[in-house]
Amino acid sequence: MKGPSIGFRLAAWYFAVFTLGLAGFSITAWFAMRASVFHAIDDELRDRVRGVTQFMENQISSLSLLEIRDEFREHSVLGPGGDLFQVCNERGQWLYRSVPLENANVGIVLPASLTNPRFEDMRVDRHRLRFYSQRIVVDGKAYTVQVASLMNEAYEALERFRLMLLLATPLLLILASVGGYWLSSRALAPVDGISRAAQKISIENLDERLTVPETGDQLQRLSETLNAMLSRLATSVRQMKQFTADASHELRAPVSLIRTTAEVAVQKRDRPAAEYLQALDEILEESERTSEVVDSLMLLARTDSGKEAVEFSTTDMCAIVRGAVEQGEKLVRNRGLQFAARVPEGPIWIQADAEALRRALLILIDNAAKYTPLGGSVTVGFETRDGLAVASVTDTGIGIGESDKAHIFDRFWRADKARSREQGGAGLGLSIAKWIVEMHRGAIGVESKLGKGSTFWIRVPLDRG
Ligand code: ADP
Repeated sequence: MKGPSIGFRLAAWYFAVFTLGLAGFSITAWFAMRASVFHAIDDELRDRVRGVTQFMENQISSLSLLEIRDEFREHSVLGPGGDLFQVCNERGQWLYRSVPLENANVGIVLPASLTNPRFEDMRVDRHRLRFYSQRIVVDGKAYTVQVASLMNEAYEALERFRLMLLLATPLLLILASVGGYWLSSRALAPVDGISRAAQKISIENLDERLTVPETGDQLQRLSETLNAMLSRLATSVRQMKQFTADASHELRAPVSLIRTTAEVAVQKRDRPAAEYLQALDEILEESERTSEVVDSLMLLARTDSGKEAVEFSTTDMCAIVRGAVEQGEKLVRNRGLQFAARVPEGPIWIQADAEALRRALLILIDNAAKYTPLGGSVTVGFETRDGLAVASVTDTGIGIGESDKAHIFDRFWRADKARSREQGGAGLGLSIAKWIVEMHRGAIGVESKLGKGSTFWIRVPLDRG
């Protein structure tokens, strides 16, 4: 199923986050604006009550009620906020009442009931007013002073601000989303380039590489990672091709030998029976060798595909070495060589597939026998060292040159092609042994001197349990 593009999804996320941010900002800004408007008005209302109080403190003792009213009228017209105020005494008698409030009959709370100053919002004659009432005491008598402020302009300003926010928010959102989409498409354009280039690479042109942008960012890393993966793939494919070519080559030689031997035998009729027998012997020997190569090839193919499983169990390594020694001794002695083995009583426990490990050791003993000239000797040793079980096979054979050491564990690799072929090796033994040892989390190696002999060793970790 084809989902929305990364560019689209990024823009959508950007849009969602921006919407939330902008909505949060607009709401906060509106409330902050409203609070600041009300704060200013409330301060002004409190100031006006202070003015009235001061006036009363100065004048009330020397003036009659009527005179006070007149004074208030004069005073209020000059004062800030006009004459929107009213004052009453404890009995509810008006000291002053401005005309609009009187006309609308705006009520007042008697001083006895007004413990705390209070603000109220009211509509008077289609005007919006904010009232502030406070109880004051002058000359020992309590009064309620109520002042009001016309709020029409403040509300209009707040409304304009609200409209501006409502209009600007969607506009900003549209701009931000278009910008976000454009930016993400621009940022992701090189990814399309990389995938187009990667699509062109197949098994035929595995040596081609993607162009790496020198940007030092994820795109550079992506291209480098893909290139590294291509290199690994190319190496694997090369090895596979090499393996197939080597395997066919290895099999062609014995098969053609079998064929030639058979052809020669049937060409001339009426041969003595001994000649036929000899030809059949040769064919049999060559067939056995071929099946061994085929078995080795099959085993390596299974290890490559991960199908060859080794089954680990707690095993006595001494018993494994003794098993290999028993079989190997015959091979060595049959070739006219001396044989010696130094294996302790044991047990020495390791986690191993006993059969596989015995096979690896046997490969080393077999090689020692094959590459040691008549009169030489082969010695098998075994010891434990630094938490490892170390088995070794030493021969007094032809040895291995320094440059060859690096290759002997490669598949189909033989130091002396002609001689090895003669002795039946296809160059697979050591690669099989190496695979087995590595499956045991161990290591395999060799110390050798050309013309003097070699010591092959296998190290596997001891069982800690
Ligand atoms: P092969 O079937 O040819 O013996 P291996 O993988 O077992 O294949 O060994 C690879 C090559 O390493 C051999 O062809 C030989 O040249 C060299 N080699 C292995 N073991 C010895 C040894 N003990 N002494 C000298 N050369 C050896």
